Amino acid sequence: MQLADQTLLRTEAFIGGRWCPAADNGETEVVNAASRDPIGRVPNMGPADAERAINAAATAFPQWKRIVAYERSVILRRWCDLVRESADDLAQMITAEGGKPLPESRAEVAYAAGFLEWFAEEARRAYGDVIPPHQADKRLLVVRQPIGVAAAITPWNFPAAMIARKAAAALAAGCTMLVKPAPQTPLTALALAALAERAGLPAGVLNVVTTDASTSPEIGKLICESSLVRALSFTGSTTVGKLLAAQAAATVKKVSLELGGNAPFIVFADADLEAAVEGAIAAKFRNAGQTCICANRFYVQQPLADAFARLLAERVSGLKVGAGDTDGVAIGPLIDERGLAKVERHVADAQACGGTILLGGHRHALGGTFFEPTVIAGATSGMQIAHEETFGPLAAVFPFTDEPEVIALANATEYGLASYFYSRDLSRAFRMAEALDYGMVGINTGMLSTPTAPFGGVKASGIGREGGREGMSEYQELKYICLGIDE
Ligand code: NAP
Repeated sequence: MQLADQTLLRTEAFIGGRWCPAADNGETEVVNAASRDPIGRVPNMGPADAERAINAAATAFPQWKRIVAYERSVILRRWCDLVRESADDLAQMITAEGGKPLPESRAEVAYAAGFLEWFAEEARRAYGDVIPPHQADKRLLVVRQPIGVAAAITPWNFPAAMIARKAAAALAAGCTMLVKPAPQTPLTALALAALAERAGLPAGVLNVVTTDASTSPEIGKLICESSLVRALSFTGSTTVGKLLAAQAAATVKKVSLELGGNAPFIVFADADLEAAVEGAIAAKFRNAGQTCICANRFYVQQPLADAFARLLAERVSGLKVGAGDTDGVAIGPLIDERGLAKVERHVADAQACGGTILLGGHRHALGGTFFEPTVIAGATSGMQIAHEETFGPLAAVFPFTDEPEVIALANATEYGLASYFYSRDLSRAFRMAEALDYGMVGINTGMLSTPTAPFGGVKASGIGREGGREGMSEYQELKYICLGIDE
């Protein structure tokens, strides 16, 4: 990788303010998601290294907590500025490791910087409360204090934004943190740490422990069972989230989980069809369909379903597939063979259950982990895609007849992260927004994420919120102070 600032390309992990190898000198290879060529090596750390990172964060905590919020804010803001200045380099890394098209990687860097900026500002607004007393000789106060050492375990699909979303909130609150990035995308994580160091973050406040997939479970368990770690923030699959929550129970730590989704995208007959198709493409095909808020089930009111599916297929056929750093590419590779196999399984199942493939349906001629953007009409509730997150470039269109029916269909899932609907009826907009059992609802838009709003899910999609006014409270404890006074 040729970066403008080659010093951002780190091959060591970051613990206690030092760049270091694994205790046993083990390494793991990072590959280009499109070509599968090696692009770097990082330490393959084990439990002893994770323990060191926890201790470094614990050592740094008392001092970081005492630094006034104003100064923490200044450092976070500086970090944000440096991330923005390095946007092109970071975007190149994200595309190389994760495969998303360069314009999307640039948008991710902007999104990540947005969290650093937002929480730099929020750091100064960690207000408490003064409560009217229940007795004349008492004064009641509530203050917010940092919870302590926090740990973040993050996925590959937003390698910069998921770290920024957690670290900015934790550091703003006065917590210190260790991050375990996904093994596919450690270079972006390490580049972010290099920029944090450059911004003047004291040693030990942010630590990055890189691993390969074989050591993740052991390190996850160690983090969960450590009594020094007081908060765990995880973004990833529901299966792993449940496991980590169970492991964390023994030390009763604060757990925040951003897990999988199965987003419905509902188009009513009164919707603007063109706008709905445009929104559908944004909500489905970003990052080749590998986002947790990706639309997974397209419910379209009759008699529009066929017209919608045809128009969607026509528009999607114009999306260019290829390596993310090629001009004009809109769909990159999938992250791995397992991801590819899941999309294939969903296509085969939909076909076997009577669905009609209007576009795609196969591995792409480019080979590797590329899959053709796919549109399937005539989807039904019995299909796997109705119940499982595909996490790939596959849009399945389910026809429906009326509002009560589609509310029941949309809510018939264990997940509850993002949901979307298109309608021009204002009363329906309120009815639907209130009836959808989801943490987030997009109305007449396929793009809803922003650092300024609370992001998160209900049911098996998670616990807690990130971003917004709420994000910092995941890393704070409320302390109630009751003062007896002489009258
Ligand atoms: P994943 O398998 O759960 O992995 C996520 C992270 O957890 C990776 O760093 C992974 O490292 C690590 N991990 C896996 N098993 C672990 C264990 N036993 N202990 C500790 N760490 C462990 O998820 P993924 O397939 O990479 O990501 C896709 C999923 O994330 C989708 O379900 C998506 O919806 C969800 N997601 C949710 C959000 C949200 O905000 N709600 C955002 C993005 C993605 P290894 O790979 O080394 O195992």
